[in-house]
Amino acid sequence: MTQRKSGFTLISKDAYVDRFLAANPSERRDDVVARLDDAIAAHKDGERCSCGEQIWIVGSAVAGYACFTCITGEATPDSDYEISTT
Ligand SMILES: [Zn+2]
Repeated sequence: MTQRKSGFTLISKDAYVDRFLAANPSERRDDVVARLDDAIAAHKDGERCSCGEQIWIVGSAVAGYACFTCITGEATPDSDYEISTT
């Protein structure tokens, strides 16, 4: 439970892409990777949601730069995936 603080389940980009494509077979891998790379770069640049929170990379790749709460309406993540950037 080392990631309890954030509530996210951290996962590598490659592992996430594999899971995403398994669930969304109509998506193209290079498109998914490009969107994730864009969101990861924004996260590393310190991009913030309009509410001031750090952006959620996984959600921002789909919904535009925003935090978990603003994208999902949930207060806190419950083992939702987030890309490990370290
Ligand atoms: Zn927000």
